[in-house]
Amino acid sequence: MDFELSDEQRALANSVRDFCRAEIVPHAKRWDDSEHFPIELIPKLAELGLMGMQISPEYGGAGMSFSDYVLVIEELARHDGSVCLTVASHNSLCSGHINGFGSEEQKRRYLPDLTSAKKLGAWCLTEPGSGSDAGGARTRAIKKGDRWIINGSKTFITQGSVAGTYVVLASTTPDAKQKGLTAFIVEKGWKGLRVGRHLEKMGLRASDTTEVIFEELEVPDENRIGELDHGFTQTLRILEKGRVGIASMAVGLGRGALEEATIYAKQRAQFGQAIANFQAIQFMLANMSMELEGARLLVRRAAWLQDQGRRTPQESSMAKLWAAQAGRRACMDAVQILGGYGYTREFPVERYLRDVKLCEIGEGTNEVQRMLISRQLFAGA
Ligand SMILES: Cc1cc2nc3c(=O)[nH]c(=O)nc-3n(C[C@H](O)[C@H](O)[C@H](O)COP(=O)(O)OP(=O)(O)OC[C@H]3O[C@@H](n4cnc5c(N)ncnc54)[C@H](O)[C@@H]3O)c2cc1C
Repeated sequence: MDFELSDEQRALANSVRDFCRAEIVPHAKRWDDSEHFPIELIPKLAELGLMGMQISPEYGGAGMSFSDYVLVIEELARHDGSVCLTVASHNSLCSGHINGFGSEEQKRRYLPDLTSAKKLGAWCLTEPGSGSDAGGARTRAIKKGDRWIINGSKTFITQGSVAGTYVVLASTTPDAKQKGLTAFIVEKGWKGLRVGRHLEKMGLRASDTTEVIFEELEVPDENRIGELDHGFTQTLRILEKGRVGIASMAVGLGRGALEEATIYAKQRAQFGQAIANFQAIQFMLANMSMELEGARLLVRRAAWLQDQGRRTPQESSMAKLWAAQAGRRACMDAVQILGGYGYTREFPVERYLRDVKLCEIGEGTNEVQRMLISRQLFAGA
């Protein structure tokens, strides 16, 4: 068993940290306040290799392992949740789906523009009436000759308005519920694809979240990803990795909260001494640190297993559930440690708290993770 990062991994994390401090941290509050999607940052992220992390260099990617990927995600989230979510969804959902299940022709056609970030990627599963229950999807694809006609609407789509490439899950065999879903690649500019409402959010306000609407959208059969009705099986694989990414995001945000609160506790004096001298504050910091470290271990173990080519349905859900809760508790306690200042927008911990809440909802809520973990327990009993 080896718990050490390699020299290359340390260098990778350091380079992302330096980039964040120079290019993201000075602007993060302004972007959040004004709900500005930092499109100007995207080419710089691509230059660093962060827009095609796990894609092979053959398609312009950086060819990183999944363990490298989760390290980068933690580092990005430590500095800004919104940029982290943009990078995570572009990499693991849209590009990940095409890379994992697309044909050679689809990979050659779509991945180079995604890895160079000439185009951003979006992944469209959730609908107004179906979130946790993907089988309730109403978006329908009907075959007409060598084309599919798609009608329906998706919501909560990250990069919904700024993406150039969309992976869309649509029902091709409605009676089969989730087992009747198929994935398609759709391009911005195609007649029948429309961006709907921009959603105003509690946190992650500098990430783009919108509705995406399909009205008689024509998609050539060559843009179908994989076999007919295999969209949900693909989705399970995508989310198995995606959830570990969201878990790492929660660790990064929680780590940000812990670091800010530790510095503050040493500087803030009350009753004639630093508040860091009070056991109540020390215990909060100790718990934050312990829970985040446990979460990081679950994340790295799941990532390592994925790198060995193993499936991780249970490990991914455990990592996500534990990390999302640990991250949320760490951010909440950081606000408490900073007192009234923590509640103001002068300090970043309130933003971390608003951002980290998404980790308990996106890519499967805490309740869904518990359902998945217990399902595995019963399957093995
Ligand atoms: C910022 C943001 C970005 C997102 N990005 C994307 C994206 O890029 N692409 C995409 O497709 N989706 C995206 N989503 C959607 C996200 O994955 C869903 O919000 C999530 O899966 C939950 O679905 P829902 O919101 O419809 O909640 P619901 O499924 O309606 O759940 C509501 C509540 O009921 C609970 N619940 C539901 N079923 C059960 C059950 N069987 N047992 C117990 N409790 C249950 C849930 O846990 C939750 O507490 C995003 C969401 C947000 C907020």
